Amino acid sequence: MKRTATCGELNRNHLAEKVTINGWVHRHRDHGNIKFINLRDRYGITQVVIDADATPVLKNTASELKFEYCIAVQGEVRSRPDNMVNPSMQTGEIEVKAEKIQILSTCAALPFMIDERTEAREDLRLQYRYLDLRSFSMQKNIRLRHEVALGVREYLIGRGFMEIETPTLIRSTPEGARDFLVPSRLYSGKFYALPQSPQLYKQLLMVSGFDKYFQIAHCFRDEDARGDRQIEHTQIDLEMSFVSKEDIFEVIEGMLQHIFRKTLNKELKVPFPRLSYDQAMDRYGSDKPDLRFDLEIKELSSLLAQGDFQLFKDVVAAGGVVKALLAPGCSGLSRKEISRLEETAKIFKAKGLAWMKVTEGGLEGGISRFYGDLSEAIITETGAAAGDLLLFVGDTRKTACTSLGAVRNELAAKLKLYDEKDFNFAWIIDFPLFEWSEEEKRWEPTHHMFSMPQEQCLDTLEEDPGRVKGDLYDLVCNGVELASGSIRIHDPELQKRIFNIIGLSLEEAGRRFGFLLEAFKHGPPPHGGIAPGLDRLVMLMAGESTIREVITFPKNTLGLSPMDDCPSSVGREQLEELHLKITKSAP
Ligand code: ASP
Repeated sequence: MKRTATCGELNRNHLAEKVTINGWVHRHRDHGNIKFINLRDRYGITQVVIDADATPVLKNTASELKFEYCIAVQGEVRSRPDNMVNPSMQTGEIEVKAEKIQILSTCAALPFMIDERTEAREDLRLQYRYLDLRSFSMQKNIRLRHEVALGVREYLIGRGFMEIETPTLIRSTPEGARDFLVPSRLYSGKFYALPQSPQLYKQLLMVSGFDKYFQIAHCFRDEDARGDRQIEHTQIDLEMSFVSKEDIFEVIEGMLQHIFRKTLNKELKVPFPRLSYDQAMDRYGSDKPDLRFDLEIKELSSLLAQGDFQLFKDVVAAGGVVKALLAPGCSGLSRKEISRLEETAKIFKAKGLAWMKVTEGGLEGGISRFYGDLSEAIITETGAAAGDLLLFVGDTRKTACTSLGAVRNELAAKLKLYDEKDFNFAWIIDFPLFEWSEEEKRWEPTHHMFSMPQEQCLDTLEEDPGRVKGDLYDLVCNGVELASGSIRIHDPELQKRIFNIIGLSLEEAGRRFGFLLEAFKHGPPPHGGIAPGLDRLVMLMAGESTIREVITFPKNTLGLSPMDDCPSSVGREQLEELHLKITKSAP
């Protein structure tokens, strides 16, 4: 009973045809003499009828069918009775009158029903992921992922890029995360690392002259299980020679435009707006601002230092700032609701969240009593109107901005200030090249150590590393960081200065990636690149809120795989072969 059609393609044009369809029993209904089966495959659902005049053998087989049995049905396509026509289904006008049914395989009791989207808890879904992947929502997501990957290839290859693989067992890549290590059996005590990204290899490919490279690459980072992270993710990794960031922006904008047009039938407006890192932090309190809504954070340091609120006076005197966020129409928020926003601010290290309500008569409540004379000026500066709520944080610039940025996001979600279906892309540029690490008491690269400082900073790198801007850029969409990239250093002397600033000795650099430094002695071209995260892109496009929904077999939030139970222990023999001894086992 070889399949002649899928479950998604039959319609009125096929009436009276003899067909064979294969699939899974999605639903079955018994109406006494007559039985209906909804047969499902990845193309759709077709209604199958076992009529009253069916042979006893057929009736018998039909009575054995249970959910998710895999079956073949042979029969004739006919119109559905008028009252059963379903115009919202591709196959909604027809049904197949079964003449023969073959059970290809049975199905054990289901841990959850295969539905549009299952309500089962996530670990159960992950344990039976192969069943979860049968649901319409997962089928749709995985199909979208495939189409996005296809769009990437079509577009980039059309622009002259070559798709080139790089190795998975490598020497460590310095991307800033912890490496996954693979012990070598042949060379006792030595390890391969899994790539945190193909960074060094794509730069080497530039040295080799492959001036437009891309790869849909698996990247591995041994990070703590937290939030929406996966220890293994996929990047659309890209590198180009003889380019400035403008060329890279143009390629990525064109690629996304192509993908959105093809898969979602959506026209993206390019070029994407650009914001400097400082602007993004100052106005939105985040280097990945959600720009679907305004809610700009304002600075009111000098004005609020004039009132009698001692805390703000002290903060400003100590070189800090007072930042304000206007919550439109929120003067009715209860103290409890304001406290909840304050909790959010505190996660980002704010000591508190001060507030004032705006009424017809001026400012009321919270810290307004310290600002009697200044109320008009505060209202004018913030553009507030009666019914609004003003929220303030006084602290270091970073804490004031990031804590209000988090409150901004929470408010926007609460007030539904954006359309979930909007996509708002922006480039964040002019990042600082270095960040001070309090823990390590040294400068660290903001992106990675191969990124180029901006030209105007070249003479004074060492004087004040904190002020050096890099030729670095991020692409953000709806508050999600979608891609990071940079123009790279191709001058060994400049690279040495960067190592020096981050406290990496030449010997250590040579030991870790001497091969790259050696390659850069052999005519490296100027080059730069970027790596959009495929999982995050598809997640946004699918309207999902975690990347696990667009990955076939993800790890759970604890970094475990409930389906194949990994990571798992290995036998003593295997360990011995690898010259390893376990000193402590996880419970
Ligand atoms: N390798 C970088 C990353 O994974 C991206 C890039 O600079 O191209 O973030």
